[in-house]
Amino acid sequence: MSAAPDRMHRPDSDLVDLVFDYMRERLQYDPVPLDHPGDGEHLRAQLSGLLNQDGNNPADVLKLYDHELSRAVISADSPRYLSFIPCAPTKAALLFDMVVSCASLQGISWLEAAGAIAAENQVLRLIADRAGMPASAGGTFVSGGSAGNLSALVVARDTARRKLAEQGRPSGPEVRLRIAVADQVHSSVKNTFNIIGVEAFKVPTVDRRFTGEALRAALAADPNPETVIAVVGTGGTTNEGIVDDLQGLSEVARERGLWFHVDGAYGGAGLFAPSVRERYNGIEHADSFVVDPHKWLFAPFDCAALIYRNPQLARAVHTQDASYLDVLHTEGDEWNPTDYAYHLTRRARGLPLWFSLAVHGVQAYTDAIEAGLTLARDTAQLIRDSEHLELLFDPQLSAVCFKRNGWTNDDYYRWSQQLLADQIGFVTPTGWDGETVARFAFLHPGTTMEMVKEILDTME
Ligand SMILES: *Cc1c(COP(=O)(O)O)cnc(C)c1O
Repeated sequence: MSAAPDRMHRPDSDLVDLVFDYMRERLQYDPVPLDHPGDGEHLRAQLSGLLNQDGNNPADVLKLYDHELSRAVISADSPRYLSFIPCAPTKAALLFDMVVSCASLQGISWLEAAGAIAAENQVLRLIADRAGMPASAGGTFVSGGSAGNLSALVVARDTARRKLAEQGRPSGPEVRLRIAVADQVHSSVKNTFNIIGVEAFKVPTVDRRFTGEALRAALAADPNPETVIAVVGTGGTTNEGIVDDLQGLSEVARERGLWFHVDGAYGGAGLFAPSVRERYNGIEHADSFVVDPHKWLFAPFDCAALIYRNPQLARAVHTQDASYLDVLHTEGDEWNPTDYAYHLTRRARGLPLWFSLAVHGVQAYTDAIEAGLTLARDTAQLIRDSEHLELLFDPQLSAVCFKRNGWTNDDYYRWSQQLLADQIGFVTPTGWDGETVARFAFLHPGTTMEMVKEILDTME
């Protein structure tokens, strides 16, 4: 007799206890250990034969995950993880992420998930208010800054094509459209250009900052400025945390009728930090804006907030037309998140942030973000005061780039590997004017100056 086909779907309290006990333990790690890079051969040997016809004892599988797989994952939520951009979700957000998973929320449409979408939209509104965007602003949560940049710039492109057509100008795919960016723009924006078939209109920076003046001059010097249809400002850049001249860029955008997109995937959280808020002035004029709560707003992966000034323009581009979806677009469809990005099915990934914000209040976020900013300033001072280190610029946000005098490329890589092997820190080298240098990205409010000193001491 064959086994019942619903045997995987029945309540199983032993399995619940097994996994919840593991989760309870993971949530109590204090601090979260960094862990290690993986060895492919070893991992493949551990996994060999696991996916067989009849399954395995769940305790054995979980043990394999705990003892082998999870140890070969460097924990982005460790306070010693200071590379790239870390991820430091609050406990409330992590826990609520489990709720989102267990409740199988389909975040496509108002019809299916009005309660979840109302809560997500409350968070988008809070962020839009911080940016100073108008009451009409709205959007959706997508998987990351890359997805947000792509979704927004498709709207920029198609809106421009429509305007060109209305003006009786050539507007079809044969017209080479361009979007103004600076060198420091994130790689995902360059990928977006490739995907959507537009070209970069590259503008040189002033002290690594993209300014309105430089954009105005570059447009004035170009023979076909009308083919430049948008400008992307970054707030702030991933490597250095530099916030572009959003005010100046927004002015040129208005003069020229350009779409103004602000990529705040990393730095957008600074809108909640009074000590740096004014650097973002001009963001209120953005036509679209992305911030990754999975970076500096302490949400778990994968969560990016995408907000449009005029969401109708996004809806005109992204709404999917299929007869089986017609039912979504009827009376009472107050807000369908699927209409504001290139996705259809989506996790209600804004909810963990909503729960954590509701539980802790906005001030707790401000305090945690300011902690990263303070750490960056204090670290910069320590580096300035050191004989063997050189600070490369005054940190604007929470990224600090610096040099160890006399070190070569190999020295940095050897040092970084040793630091991780000793579980002191995860600090990867980066590039600076063609040179290899060291970089901290602070974000976790549990990172201490003692940890920073411990790391810097290894460079003596
Ligand atoms: C991280 C980052 C991105 C990409 O975001 P993902 O969430 O990794 O897709 C885009 N822009 C900037 C400025 C970033 O820092």
